[in-house]
Amino acid sequence: MTRNAELYERACRTIPGGVNSPVRAYRSVGGTPPFIERAAGPYVWDADKQRYIDYVGSWGPAILGHAHPAVIKAVQDAAVNGLSFGAPTEGEVQLAEMLCERMPSIEQVRMVSSGTEATMSAIRLARGFTGRDKIIKFEGCYHGHADSLLVKAGSGLLTFGNPTSAGVPAEFAAHTLVLDYNDLDAVEAAFKEYGGQIACIIVEPVAGNMNMVQPKPGFLQGLREQCTRHGALLIFDEVMTGFRVGPQGVQGRVGITPDLTTLAKVIGGGMPMGAFGGRRDVMAKIAPLGPVYQAGTLSGNPIAVAAGITTLRLIGEPDFYARLETQTARLVKGLCSLASEAGIPFSADSVGGMFGIYFRDTIPTSLAEVSASNVDAFNQFFHAALSRGVMFAPSAFEAGFVSAMHDDAVIKNTLDVAQAAFAEITAR
Ligand code: PMP
Repeated sequence: MTRNAELYERACRTIPGGVNSPVRAYRSVGGTPPFIERAAGPYVWDADKQRYIDYVGSWGPAILGHAHPAVIKAVQDAAVNGLSFGAPTEGEVQLAEMLCERMPSIEQVRMVSSGTEATMSAIRLARGFTGRDKIIKFEGCYHGHADSLLVKAGSGLLTFGNPTSAGVPAEFAAHTLVLDYNDLDAVEAAFKEYGGQIACIIVEPVAGNMNMVQPKPGFLQGLREQCTRHGALLIFDEVMTGFRVGPQGVQGRVGITPDLTTLAKVIGGGMPMGAFGGRRDVMAKIAPLGPVYQAGTLSGNPIAVAAGITTLRLIGEPDFYARLETQTARLVKGLCSLASEAGIPFSADSVGGMFGIYFRDTIPTSLAEVSASNVDAFNQFFHAALSRGVMFAPSAFEAGFVSAMHDDAVIKNTLDVAQAAFAEITAR
């Protein structure tokens, strides 16, 4: 028995499914998840000392590669001064200033400890600000695991075929209007019917939890216009895309100003950190200034803040994103041409340091199209790559992430592995 298998068996005795977050289990692809011992740069090593080129990147945060020496040093330096105070620190102010400066739509920001907390708080704030109860989300988008958002969601809910969680009261779910991504007509119709009751639209401005799906031209602009016209707030959930697709997230790429933005992943540099922020008049409704309550014992944690500040500083260097985008595009282009040589129906797409691979002929623009891809072919490809030392996310419905440490040699190594992996695919 491998050490990974031993650990998995042991884990399953005390932890449901052996994992502390469902997508980590290899339920949909089959097999035993590698237990990670350490990571550095573009690599992770498992309990059996196997090395993998990593395209999971902790599901997004590891944009600098794993264990970047400057980030580790910042964490170590912060740790000796104490782990948590439950009182304000200068570091928090510095991180808040960096976020406001880099994302112009954010005039004020509140820090939390996860993406889930960020979106949950932003939704409550939108409801408190507008005095309305209904929200619009899109099928296949995942916004963390708060009750109102676990309705027809993506990520693990999609992977495991149970898109609306049990345990969410029907009365809560009734306030969540779920529409098709990229379907602006449906948004207009919803506002026509429920206009005065809709507090906000929350959207992944590039969806990364139903594999990767880009917004069609005009979609995000249309959301902005509808929200403005009907007095609803537009929330960009940039937990995944923030500082991942460019220096100002998707909003900087498309030039649209949301009312609120949620962030996590990259801004914590691998430590538990999230944030939500936006219009000053909206943020003024948050306690202690206003009536919308939101709080956290570990919010603005000094160690997480130190990791976040150092990460933001390093990704702020000139050409950082140009290089990241080039490397990601090189990977995606290479995969497409190898699949085509092997005669496998395949397409791929990337934005900044984020990518999607699809076992279907064309790049999908909706959940229906993503769902029509060949999951068996993906699963075969996934295992053939993993056994050769390349780790993609263990689901056909997750995006992939490239780090600044995925240099030419790493991409070439990946493509050599992919060539062999495509050759093993028998599912057509
Ligand atoms: N929103 C988006 C867009 C996400 O991708 C995620 C996590 N993958 C979340 C929210 C929830 O973040 P967390 O897992 O940190 O709670």
